[in-house]
Amino acid sequence: MATLRDMLDKDALTAHCQAMLAGGRPCNHSKRMDIAALAEILGWDFDVVERRPELMRRLKCAECGSRDVMIHVTPLNTSGGGDWHAS
Ligand SMILES: [Zn+2]
Repeated sequence: MATLRDMLDKDALTAHCQAMLAGGRPCNHSKRMDIAALAEILGWDFDVVERRPELMRRLKCAECGSRDVMIHVTPLNTSGGGDWHAS
């Protein structure tokens, strides 16, 4: 399962524009998405992995207006520095 609820505080969702602009220059605009804001629209049980195409259809690049947007899911803790807990 990779619902928005599962991903909150655990994974980062990044939208990455794949459109080619005039002159063959790639747009490359990317932005971290606000999971809580997405959940407001899609619901906390929205499975991002299973329903990725559905999510991608809803996105539009803020820079160039393209809908050729890819979603990347990356774990928030990529440092590999081991667990630590605040108390
Ligand atoms: Zn773009």
